Amino acid sequence: MTTTGTARVEAVIDLDAVRHNVGVLAAAAPGAQVMAVVKADGYGHGAVPVARAALEAGATWLGVCTIEEALELRAAGITAPLLSWLHLPDDDFAAAVAADVDLSVSSREHLVAVLAGARAAGRPARLHLKIDTGLSRNGAPAAAWADLVDDAAKAAADGGCEVVAVWSHLAHADAPHHPTLDRQAARLTAAWQAARDRGLSPLRHLANSAATLTRPDLHFDIVRPGIAVYGLDPLDRPVDESPLRPVMTLRARVALVKQVPAGEGVSYGHEYTTPQETTLALLPAGYADGVPRRLNRNGRMQVLLGGRLRPVVGRVCMDQVVVDCGPGSDVRTGDTAVLFGPGDGGGPTAQDWADELDTIHYEIATGVHGNRVTRTV
Ligand code: PLP
Repeated sequence: MTTTGTARVEAVIDLDAVRHNVGVLAAAAPGAQVMAVVKADGYGHGAVPVARAALEAGATWLGVCTIEEALELRAAGITAPLLSWLHLPDDDFAAAVAADVDLSVSSREHLVAVLAGARAAGRPARLHLKIDTGLSRNGAPAAAWADLVDDAAKAAADGGCEVVAVWSHLAHADAPHHPTLDRQAARLTAAWQAARDRGLSPLRHLANSAATLTRPDLHFDIVRPGIAVYGLDPLDRPVDESPLRPVMTLRARVALVKQVPAGEGVSYGHEYTTPQETTLALLPAGYADGVPRRLNRNGRMQVLLGGRLRPVVGRVCMDQVVVDCGPGSDVRTGDTAVLFGPGDGGGPTAQDWADELDTIHYEIATGVHGNRVTRTV
């Protein structure tokens, strides 16, 4: 949604923080180019504005998951090098090649399909050969990558493609000294060397946010940070110990304030009963907006409202939560509550939510629903 000025629930996106974070990442990887990962609508922050801010701050590449995500950036007039990496063999590769989108290829089947798309588009495809070096996810496994490199080299010689890079993705990047990191890097380098032996001159890329910040020896030619661009620390350091600045503040405006007596059950199932006469404030944000229902299952969810942390009481509903503001509160209809943000004023952070839910902050940010929540940039 776009801004209306009277947002019910609002994700405020701090593009200065994006620029700051990309600066931190670029400084950490001085010998590499930065590919800002803006898949999943910029991890729920808005792909187009984040991409523009990242490019302003020194990123030279953008990375997305799907061709649709890549074409959205192109439609917005973004011309920077752009890689898309997860495809079905019947995806619209011709449209991607025509829009100058680099394509990741993980198998011979994908290669054949991408080359057909390139022929239809009337220009060579720009390929990044994805090697499964140990994540067992996307990418050509050990038994298959030599053939893939071979076929791609032949296609390049025939003018059907350019092999731009050989690349992979880490399984344990958040544990910088885990032995699999070196093993994955060695396997990637073997595949990259095989491509060079076939006369190709590909770039090599491997590092996500965590490896960008902790493993300079794995930076190679391009680093691919995602979560750190959004200021969410890949090493789970508290906000005041992280060099990164959280980009998103999720906030909601008080829709209703009322006085209730002691002994009133609150929200579905009456899991909370008012212990005294008190002031309840209704926030029009719920699980349909990206406030997980389980967040308050232990009664520990808090919001920053009127300069103080206050408890959400009772179950999170689809569209609303209730805050107990205490007796005689001066909270008013229209006041703004911070659900999570950069942690200033002691406010909750996305990391706090992730800890409470036993998940990762990636899931919190991407769970903020763009079709319900007004995004203010
Ligand atoms: N590269 C690939 C292939 C990814 O799928 C992702 C995100 O999952 C990233 C880079 C960015 O990772 P992170 O957000 O951990 O920096």
